[in-house]
Amino acid sequence: MRRPIVAGNWKMHGSRAENARLVEELLAQAPAAPAADCVVCPPLVYLQEVGRQLRGSIYILGAQDVCADTQGAFTGEVSAAMLKDIGCEYVIVGHSERRLLYRESDQLVARKFSAAHSKGLVPILCVGEQLADREAGRTNEIVARQLDVVLELCGAGTLERGVIAYEPVWAIGTGRNATPDQAQEVHAFIRGRIAARDAKIAAATRILYGGSVKAGNAAELFNRPDVDGGLIGGASLKADEFLTILAAARPG
Ligand code: PEP
Repeated sequence: MRRPIVAGNWKMHGSRAENARLVEELLAQAPAAPAADCVVCPPLVYLQEVGRQLRGSIYILGAQDVCADTQGAFTGEVSAAMLKDIGCEYVIVGHSERRLLYRESDQLVARKFSAAHSKGLVPILCVGEQLADREAGRTNEIVARQLDVVLELCGAGTLERGVIAYEPVWAIGTGRNATPDQAQEVHAFIRGRIAARDAKIAAATRILYGGSVKAGNAAELFNRPDVDGGLIGGASLKADEFLTILAAARPG
């Protein structure tokens, strides 16, 4: 049975004061024994402070991005070893905002996945199609391309400590979530694609859905057999909503 994950991507939001308030609420309302792993991904500059505040709680620290290279003359970048050093356990790679706004290629994302995995972090690989792709019937093709580059470079075995997040770009921050059927269809496709390389790994891989998950739609999305929790953007900035989403995630 796969233990679900609910991961909150705070994106470029917050301040020390706002984070402290959010963390206080998260700690005060935390369930004693959640049925899912709960990951919190603050902006890079706040990782250490938020990590300290969350230490010993149910919350696991994650970063929003990582450098594909290990060390050296890469001004402004942060390595996987550095993230690990300050207590991160997870890192998001290939978020659509990074792919689209910062032109990250499938190959770069795969190298980031590899760098994170090799330093003991759990990479959360984001894949997903844009609206035009879906309307042209190219969803599986796009997702397969994004996934295959990682599987080729890193091998399916790396998914033993790796997570996939299916995030249709048209659903991110738009208030328009994929329907549970649409999510399930793509999640099953992703699992099948991994199974073609390694059935055992595929059965154990956690595949999250992301895109306008809210307290009101989480349960029906997470109830689908191949949906193992969610990657949550906007709703992760409100403790009560995020924790309602967490409560909706149960092992299938
Ligand atoms: C995200 O940023 O990964 C995301 C899913 O955002 P939102 O939940 O706001 O759509």
